Amino acid sequence: MIRILGTGEQDIAYAIDLLNSAQVVALPTETVYGLAGDATSVPAVSRIFSAKGRPGHNPLIVHVADITMAQSLGLFDDISLALAAAFWPGPLTLVLPLQPNTPIAPQVTPGGRTIALRQPAHPVFQSVLSAFGRPLAAPSANPSGMMSPTTAAHVCAGLGEVIPAVIDGGPARIGVESTVVQVSNGKIYLLRPGGIVRDVIGAAVGMDIVSGAPASEILASPGQLQSHYAPRASVRLNATHADAGEALLAFGPNEPAFTGPKINLSPDADLGQAAANLFAMMRQLDQADIKTIAVMPIPMIGIGEAINDRLKRAASER
Ligand code: AMP
Ligand code: MG
Repeated sequence: MIRILGTGEQDIAYAIDLLNSAQVVALPTETVYGLAGDATSVPAVSRIFSAKGRPGHNPLIVHVADITMAQSLGLFDDISLALAAAFWPGPLTLVLPLQPNTPIAPQVTPGGRTIALRQPAHPVFQSVLSAFGRPLAAPSANPSGMMSPTTAAHVCAGLGEVIPAVIDGGPARIGVESTVVQVSNGKIYLLRPGGIVRDVIGAAVGMDIVSGAPASEILASPGQLQSHYAPRASVRLNATHADAGEALLAFGPNEPAFTGPKINLSPDADLGQAAANLFAMMRQLDQADIKTIAVMPIPMIGIGEAINDRLKRAASER
């Protein structure tokens, strides 16, 4: 049975004991809850993969306490360094060439060539990282292919039978996963839209952001695989109405009339609020008697790009 921990000193010490014995523990981050394990321990990393049922070819994001720890693991070019300076701690993940002779467990990196690094902003995750002193691999704390958890209760619903503990740090502030970028040949490639929006990244370094992976890396980031973030019900996008048997996920002030189950991501059309609500509200509508969740159009502005990315995958063939 999973133990639900608070955020006090003793609870954090208990989580660190687990990590030191190569166990996994779910931790709050500002994006979604992560399933953390010692990135330098082969048994810990194996436990992450088996708890999630994650395919072995899908590499893990490694969370670091600071830039010094990051530089011991990845080779920073000038642009990546500027991005880390601008956005860390925060929801930006940088894919970098792996430093030679790091102690990182091989399953964490695709073929030992690159490593995905992020310094998270959540104070609880930061305390755990600095007390633990080693990098933590932490994918989202959900069964592989399902929606990411934004509360400790979501973690318990998905992994409660298979992991020893979760620290309850309240609902995740951002609600979608980190933005993943990779610098290659002087260009910034967007591998996954997320918590920090494209234009903000571009503006910080005065560059445009290229969509997709550099040609040499297409298969290295399976987060780009089509079906992902899937509820049990099917998902219908750009809905202007909902039919009987459906549930309606609305956005903005102009909801169509509907007597069935419905909920609004943000009645004020605030995209940040919609991102924070997205996974929790999808779960709320994903009930046994609902065949399809009809989702109103979400503007492709700012974090709307990340919301639409998750919705598109949730709607794609499984
Ligand atoms: P999650 O499992 O939700 O934490 O998502 C992690 C994302 O980062 C996935 O899309 C991974 O494929 C991607 N990722 C992790 N490590 C790498 C890497 N070295 N190169 C490219 N993508 C990576
Ligand atoms: Mg995930």
